[in-house]
Amino acid sequence: GADSSRILQTRGLRKEFGGLTATDDVDFAIEAGELRCLIGPNGAGKSTFLNLLTGQLDPTAGEIYYNGADITGLPSHERVGRGISMKFQVPSVYEGLTVAQNLRIPLQQVVEPDAFDARTREILERFDLLEQWGTVAGELSHGQQQRLEIGMAMAMEPKLMLLDEPVAGLSIEETADIAELLREIADDDGVALIVIEHDIDFVETIADRVTVLDGGSIFREGPIEEIKADPEVKRIYLGE
Ligand code: ADP
Ligand code: MG
Repeated sequence: GADSSRILQTRGLRKEFGGLTATDDVDFAIEAGELRCLIGPNGAGKSTFLNLLTGQLDPTAGEIYYNGADITGLPSHERVGRGISMKFQVPSVYEGLTVAQNLRIPLQQVVEPDAFDARTREILERFDLLEQWGTVAGELSHGQQQRLEIGMAMAMEPKLMLLDEPVAGLSIEETADIAELLREIADDDGVALIVIEHDIDFVETIADRVTVLDGGSIFREGPIEEIKADPEVKRIYLGE
C-alpha cells in the first residue's frame, strides 16, 4: 500500500532501454500542494521519469501509486482523467485554433457545454489571456503560449501537474510570470507540481524541495539552499 499523505509515490521504479538504465529503482514521493523541482545533468533521466508517471512509457519494474491507488498499468488517458496533467517541453497548443478553441479541448472533458464560456473566461482572466480570447494561438508570444498551455492543463482540474522545462526560451519577464503562476497553483489550488528545470535561479524562486537525478537515480533530495550548497551537486550538476 501507499502512504496516503502522498499524492504520488513511486517504489523501485525502473526503466531500461536495451542495455541502458534510464530510471534506476527510483523511490520518490510528493505531497499535495508541494512544488518540487527535478534537476540533473543532460541524460540524467528526468524526462524518462516524467514519461513513466504519465504513462507515455511503461516501466521495466516498480510501481506508481497515485492518490492511494496503484496506477502502474493504467493507460495515459485514464491517468489524465484522474487528475495527472502534463505540460511537455515543446509547446503543444493548436496553432490554427483560437485561444478559446484551444481551451475548449480540455474543458469539454470536464464541464457541460453551457458552462464553457464562463469557465473559459475564468481561466483566461487568471492566465492573463482574456484579450486574446479570439486570437489564433500561432500568433501568441512564446510566453502567452506557455500560459495557455498551463491554463489548458488547469482546465482539467488536476491534482498533479508535470512540467518539462516550462520557461525554456522565455524572457526574464515571461519567466517571472510563469514562476508566480506555478507558485499560485501549488499554494492556492493545492496542486502538486513536478517541474524539470535547468535554470537554478528559477528553481530557487519557485521550489519547495529539489530532487537531483544523476544516472537515473536520486542523487540528492532536500530544500534548495541545501542542494545549492552541496559540493557534490555542484560538481555533477553545476559544473563547478
Ligand atoms: P534527461 O531528460 O535528464 O536529459 P532522458 O530521460 O531524456 O534524460 O534520458 C535518460 C537516458 O535514457 C539518456 O541516456 C537517453 O539517451 C536515454 N533514452 C531516453 N529515451 C530513450 C529512448 N526512447 N530510447 C533509448 N534511450 C533513451
Ligand atoms: Mg529531458
